[in-house]
Amino acid sequence: MSAMLKLAVPNKGRLSERTLELLSKAGFHVPRHARRLLADVNGTWRLLFVRTDDIPEYVSTGTADVGITGLDIVSERGQPVEMLLELGFGKCRLVVAAPQVNGANTVAQLQGQRVATVFPNLTRRFFNEQGMDVDIVPLSGATEVAPSVGVAEAVVDLVETGSTLRQNGLVELETFLYSQAVLIANKDRWAQQKDSILELQSAVKSVLDAQRRRYLMANVPQFKLDEVKALLPGVTAPTIMPLLGQEDWVAVHAVIHEDVVNQLIPDLKRCGVEGLLILPIERMVS
Ligand code: AMP
Repeated sequence: MSAMLKLAVPNKGRLSERTLELLSKAGFHVPRHARRLLADVNGTWRLLFVRTDDIPEYVSTGTADVGITGLDIVSERGQPVEMLLELGFGKCRLVVAAPQVNGANTVAQLQGQRVATVFPNLTRRFFNEQGMDVDIVPLSGATEVAPSVGVAEAVVDLVETGSTLRQNGLVELETFLYSQAVLIANKDRWAQQKDSILELQSAVKSVLDAQRRRYLMANVPQFKLDEVKALLPGVTAPTIMPLLGQEDWVAVHAVIHEDVVNQLIPDLKRCGVEGLLILPIERMVS
């Protein structure tokens, strides 16, 4: 039997629950009681429960073959890893912010000033790209209080809605990175063990694709079929099936995008459809 592949996942924090939920839907279920340091799943994968911040290090050095962490952390660390998939959760932005009262109104006004951040590398790169020189104050957390305690004139911080910044009297000046959870792989293992890693990637991708889609079933009067087909620009062409004993009706099945469900229902009703069902899809395998 070949050696188990190691997948590093966040042991706590914002990305932990959503990561395990996604893996579970993809067929890699870890019972709650087994979520300690290591857990074996499906006979092929060994999960390493480690800090979100350390995952790029584990993956780039090969301690883990694959990992799930935030794109912001991968970018900040700058270690070489293979980027496999964006996972659609843990979405946030890296922004420059300054005090609303007596603070800078534009990024340009921060020339020569102090900027507090947990992301010194990304911050340095951003200001360099602006042709600016700032004094970076590296912190390990709670950046938003830095201006009020007099440590810096501005901050570079992660935000989701921006409410924490506003509560601390800060206003956003510019967003320079959009982040979300990502699946990454060690570059050598990706080259050597592509098939096994691709299996994991495809399983996860099939869950993500399915989450955005719904399976629609409806009975449609035959004379309205063309009209209904025109309403269903689905992932694949709709399946049309005869209905036993009802020659002037057909059953239509289609995969549709979640975004169109609400607008589609009244349109289909106007076409006289009956028995309309909209169901979740567990996996979409292409
Ligand atoms: P943790 O420190 O383990 O809670 O995870 C922090 C990671 O969660 C960040 O590096 C981001 O990738 C992600 N994240 C998503 N939304 C936010 C947010 N509003 N603030 C901070 N981190 C966030």
